[in-house]
Amino acid sequence: MPGQTINEISVTPVPVHYRKELGRNSRGENMGRERTEWLVRARTDGGLEGLTIANRFMREFTGFNDPEGTVRGLMALLRESLLGKRVDEFLEVSGGRVVGVTDAHKPPFWEHGWMSILAFDLLGRDMGVSCVDLLGGRVRDVVPAYDTTLYYQDLVNPEKGAGQVAEEAAESRRDGYRQFKMKVGRPGRWMAPQAGLERDIEVVLAVREAVGSDAAIMVDANFGYDGRLDLLEDFVRETLSANIFWMEEMVTHNVADYRVFRRMRDRLGSNALLVCGEVDRDPPGPVFVDLVNNGLIDGYQPDTVSAGFSRWQALEKWLEPTSVRSIPHNFGNSNFGARATLVFGAASKTFESLEDERYLPNVYANDDVTFEEGSYSIPAGPGLGLAVDQEIFAAKFGGNEVIIK
Ligand SMILES: [Mg+2]
Repeated sequence: MPGQTINEISVTPVPVHYRKELGRNSRGENMGRERTEWLVRARTDGGLEGLTIANRFMREFTGFNDPEGTVRGLMALLRESLLGKRVDEFLEVSGGRVVGVTDAHKPPFWEHGWMSILAFDLLGRDMGVSCVDLLGGRVRDVVPAYDTTLYYQDLVNPEKGAGQVAEEAAESRRDGYRQFKMKVGRPGRWMAPQAGLERDIEVVLAVREAVGSDAAIMVDANFGYDGRLDLLEDFVRETLSANIFWMEEMVTHNVADYRVFRRMRDRLGSNALLVCGEVDRDPPGPVFVDLVNNGLIDGYQPDTVSAGFSRWQALEKWLEPTSVRSIPHNFGNSNFGARATLVFGAASKTFESLEDERYLPNVYANDDVTFEEGSYSIPAGPGLGLAVDQEIFAAKFGGNEVIIK
């Protein structure tokens, strides 16, 4: 039934669990074991259901007088932006591919990128095609993923130190992962600068040893080397033998520091990509435009679900004449984010790897996607190919569902 109308939307907070306690990063306390997936289900008069999550909106709580971060604010936004709208009125389609957002829906989809993913999902279901096709078609047969759960596990288990991180990496390798990202940046806050540097180096070398020479390893400092480019130089030099694939947010994005950092990297002989951009809330922000235009970064990282498919399509068009790769941030996006990033990565020519938090299953039905040799297969179903397991939903989470019609 073409041109179906959205006649019911629901919001449900669904818990999602890690496989272990995740430690600190350079800035914050332990990540812990659990997060909330703010599941949004939009249903049509013809019986379709599209999905997204509103994690970004619900995280931005600035007080009870502000609608942001509240269920009532979320319901009002969804009612205004989506309820009563036709599935085919959101996105511009040409030759079976989405080429843009219609004018009326651009402002909400740009501000709340996660809503554009729901529009893709519903449109794909309505047309009977995968979002991979809507995004331009499949460019790879499988999508590689990296284990992103190697936080400061050494501080969670002080008696084992760097060995704890290496042990977890080895276990992940046995589980099939081939790419691993670990948190570094200990000099910034949680350890004395020199000791933090030494621990960072020790962790990188121990993880390389644990996962083998054929695995890819990445590091992420969450700006923990700010103001200490001298220590960063030591870090890059002392980890050369580990052959780091990318270095993420080693210092805060600014042209001056990235010029120094990039020259240092080249002088020392590191091949690591320099990547950043997950904190860019309105991408591309001016600083990131400067970094790209000056050839100072190799990968750009706005969040898959916060930026959404529509914004990412525009970003990729902008980046196309450059050599900058798409490396969307996906942390905190739960099981939904893993699927959205998988679909995006299947169609993106410059995509590198899916940031995988390795959550336990929660509310979604088993489907055709498999994980083998460090990569996910691509879902065949229409839209995102993702469905809520209604039995599990009703039994465990339905009691907290809020519905608007
Ligand atoms: Mg990061």
